[in-house]
Amino acid sequence: MPNIIKQNNFSYAFDAEACESCGGKCCTGESGYIYLSSGEIADIARLLKLDINVFTDKYLYQHKGRYSIKERVVKDSFDCIFYDRNINGCSIYEARPTQCRTFPFWDYFRHRVNILKLECPGIIDD
Ligand code: SF4
Ligand code: SF4
Repeated sequence: MPNIIKQNNFSYAFDAEACESCGGKCCTGESGYIYLSSGEIADIARLLKLDINVFTDKYLYQHKGRYSIKERVVKDSFDCIFYDRNINGCSIYEARPTQCRTFPFWDYFRHRVNILKLECPGIIDD
């Protein structure tokens, strides 16, 4: 059953049901940055029961003064290190960062819907 999500001032809607069969296209594929705030770092470290410094060394790297999540190369894909291909989903789902929670309603895509449609099969015209 479709699970249609809309947001004000976006010309598209999102069918969350598409995630079930998508194979995590937004968490794999091309390399990208997933930025985290210090609060989000603390939340994920807590979820994983790791000291923040240990968590940071193991799972994050710095880019332009901010922390981003490391990736794992699988064949020709750059998977977010927290993407679990066995469950077809995010292994830190409860504590995933805002950048992930707000996808696909990013300002960047507001006027780039055609690019977004290539990445996310859940995008539908509103
Ligand atoms: S790319 Fe779209 S449909 Fe696929 S998992 Fe991400 S949000 Fe869901
Ligand atoms: S943190 Fe989770 S939702 Fe975000 S890119 Fe990684 S696997 Fe995907």
